[in-house]
Amino acid sequence: MSVDGTVDRRRDVQAMIGNGNGVVAPNHSTHRLRLNPNTEHKPDSYDNLQLEYSPLLFSSLERYLPPIMLNVSRDVKVQYMREILMKYSPEGERNRVQRHKEYRQKIMLNYQPLHNELYSMHATNFFVPSFLKAVNDNSEDSFRSIISEAAPGIFTFEMLQPHFCELLLSEVENFERWVCETKFRIMQPNTMNKYGAVLDDFGLDTMLGKLMDDYVRPLSKVFFSEVGGSTLDSHHGFVVEYGIDRDVDLGFHVDDAEVTLNVCLGKQFSGGELFFRGVRCDKHVNTETLPEEILDCCHVPGHAILHRGRHRHGARATTGGHRINLILWCRSSVFRELKKYQKDFSSWCGECQREKKERQEQSVLATKLELLKGDENPAW
Ligand SMILES: [Zn+2]
Repeated sequence: MSVDGTVDRRRDVQAMIGNGNGVVAPNHSTHRLRLNPNTEHKPDSYDNLQLEYSPLLFSSLERYLPPIMLNVSRDVKVQYMREILMKYSPEGERNRVQRHKEYRQKIMLNYQPLHNELYSMHATNFFVPSFLKAVNDNSEDSFRSIISEAAPGIFTFEMLQPHFCELLLSEVENFERWVCETKFRIMQPNTMNKYGAVLDDFGLDTMLGKLMDDYVRPLSKVFFSEVGGSTLDSHHGFVVEYGIDRDVDLGFHVDDAEVTLNVCLGKQFSGGELFFRGVRCDKHVNTETLPEEILDCCHVPGHAILHRGRHRHGARATTGGHRINLILWCRSSVFRELKKYQKDFSSWCGECQREKKERQEQSVLATKLELLKGDENPAW
């Protein structure tokens, strides 16, 4: 190795140019990531790429790239970073991600959207003015002015315009008609709902990502910061359908989400209330409900219910008509990583809180007993 590193640099450039058959990313066994991020470097945006990981992860990782990589094309950087990230996901998971990507591509190639205006964010056409204003003002006061907190951590507010709800319902119907006609086998929205569709799978992914980034995250940052509300970075968006000829009710469960947005789109229905039973961590998910944790929430078309994904809930039977809800599960990779190293979730789990209080009371009692003992046997 030369003293000034000239030879090494030449080899680096050679590695990037490759053999002339295209762009070759340098091999990371010879290029280590930096230990500290280059905070002055402005990373590329990875938003418009179909990647296995969140675009945010790529722009954050870019700051750790070896200096020589910072000015190469985005494609080279993506290839290099993907190779690194792939090492962190097990093969089964990688195959699943690849299969799902192909599944989505197949739908997108064949499905013809009905209302193109739904596929990118048009805030003034989608949201009611009061909601838009509150989010633009972006303060706890502005949010509180439009929401009601039915119980701690359960927020309801008017959100979607009736016209938007109609368009989305008609797009979903159009998609379902296409599925039926082409006999395309689609995935169900989640493990519990049989009726409905994953909106992300037929092109609404970008719009829903924007909905999370610009409209759900600001609220979650204020109200759900202890469960990663400010670092939400991926979502799963779907509609669920209830009625006598659809799913009727939904048992008590928690969502695979840090924050859940649940908006009723219509149509005419009776029943179908959402019931809540307290927030619980993984360990305490089946523990008893305290009387103050019991709450029922009625659905109103256009109105949203925002809650922690770990807030145990279910849906009562829809006794008449047809009810369709838009659900956006919002997740934080940062929160999920940090959670692995924690045992006490008393900042949000009702049972962890109760246990902590019990421990504190016992410790106070033990101290009192000690003091009393001291009184009985005064030191001479
Ligand atoms: Zn707990």
